[in-house]
Amino acid sequence: MTAEIHTARCLCGKITLEATGPAKYMEYCHCKWCQQVSGSAFLPLIVFDRNNVKITSGALSYFQSSPNNQRGFCPDCGSTICFSSPRSFDIALGIMDNPEDFKAIRHIWTKSQISHVTIADNLPRFKESGS
Ligand SMILES: [Zn+2]
Ligand SMILES: [Zn+2]
Repeated sequence: MTAEIHTARCLCGKITLEATGPAKYMEYCHCKWCQQVSGSAFLPLIVFDRNNVKITSGALSYFQSSPNNQRGFCPDCGSTICFSSPRSFDIALGIMDNPEDFKAIRHIWTKSQISHVTIADNLPRFKESGS
């Protein structure tokens, strides 16, 4: 059986990456930091095992957003690439070449969800991290 390979790229194309194997899961994060880093109402993140993700071209820039966590972005076009923590390497859904391959399992940090964004799904919702 051939390995499952997911590819992604930033807006300018200088950063490309490849994730091998199935994602652990995907979630919609409504935390303020994800809102700021993405400029959007919430950020869909696909959670991968760090060892399964390889940067195939370019070099990410990182912003240390909390003591253990970093936000990765393209230094040229500014695309949000990832949330990197000791536990995992979470890739922003929007940079995936085939975003339809992923289905969210939950919403987290809904205590800061923007109220006029209507979300009509029945996924589990967590006021904070959910873990
Ligand atoms: Zn770029
Ligand atoms: Zn978040």
